[in-house]
Amino acid sequence: MDLPTYQDVVDASMVLDSVAHHTPIQTSRILDHELGVRVYVKCENFQRMGAFKFRGGYNAISHYRKHAVDGVGLNHVLTYSSGNHAQAIALASSMHGVKSTIIMPTDAPILKIRATESYGGNIVYYDRYREGRDEVAERVRMTLPPAGTVFIPPYDHRHVIAGQGTVGKEFIEDMQSASVALDYIFVCVGGGGLISGICLAAHALSPSTKIIGVEPEAGNDAQQSLERGRVVRIETPITIADGAQTQHLGELTFAIMSEHVTRIITVTDEELVDGMRFFGETMKMVVEPTGCLGLAGLRKMAKGGEIPKGSNCGVVISGGNIDLKRYCHLISQSK
Ligand SMILES: *Cc1c(COP(=O)(O)O)cnc(C)c1O
Repeated sequence: MDLPTYQDVVDASMVLDSVAHHTPIQTSRILDHELGVRVYVKCENFQRMGAFKFRGGYNAISHYRKHAVDGVGLNHVLTYSSGNHAQAIALASSMHGVKSTIIMPTDAPILKIRATESYGGNIVYYDRYREGRDEVAERVRMTLPPAGTVFIPPYDHRHVIAGQGTVGKEFIEDMQSASVALDYIFVCVGGGGLISGICLAAHALSPSTKIIGVEPEAGNDAQQSLERGRVVRIETPITIADGAQTQHLGELTFAIMSEHVTRIITVTDEELVDGMRFFGETMKMVVEPTGCLGLAGLRKMAKGGEIPKGSNCGVVISGGNIDLKRYCHLISQSK
């Protein structure tokens, strides 16, 4: 197994320096008051292309640009994604001057499809409820030049995980410069790339910080996997959290998460909408449903009395890509 290390995260932070945004950390007294803890929100909704995925995508492509693929230079990147990784690969590929082909489900959010196109990605569609994306990827791979083409998966890849880990490195280092030690970091889990990278950074920089993964109740495969000690596969979950509709963790992400994640909890779609409303109304941020997993998880545990009063709690907003029509539809549902 080609497991990433903290050194890979440090290397990724050099690669991303001056390319990715160093995203802000926001606070809300209203939220602190509501929960009886101190909350620090890392805003990857303000990252390039609107989500943390830019970090992993750019870092992985940059790795293959430096290391020849099958003896020739990289000239084509292939991937599959329901949205943000697609945009990240399309954008990072064009920044590196290489082509990208992206396999996307027909029901991917329209904003994400359009953005992927606008960054220059060539999209191939498939029906995610009927076809396995690995088979589709295999089929598409045969149509591309064998030399110089590389497949970069959305999470189970050493340099993708390392890139995502820079979110954790930045977050912890910024908090440490403000003399705050985070007791917890709440982070969303899809395939586990982001949380794995954050685990590597936290283990190196702040080993006592507890990492809590949050996933949609409709698809708690990560929770089941950590409980049973093996990767559990589920059907594509039906949830508004389109960035976390994954069927299973990866080999690498499972290994890292098994070692470093304190606990995985689940939240409902309704709790995600409450999070969207809170971020919109109180913190003035448009956050996509998946981006609200961390906050929803913290709220659930704090209200359940599971977080000691006064704890320093980090929350990662993973992304903000949602079209306004859908956003308005979701937040206007009656409470
Ligand atoms: C991809 C994505 C996730 C899930 O990340 P993983 O690395 O697959 O766990 C969460 N939120 C957003 C906005 C995403 O794009």
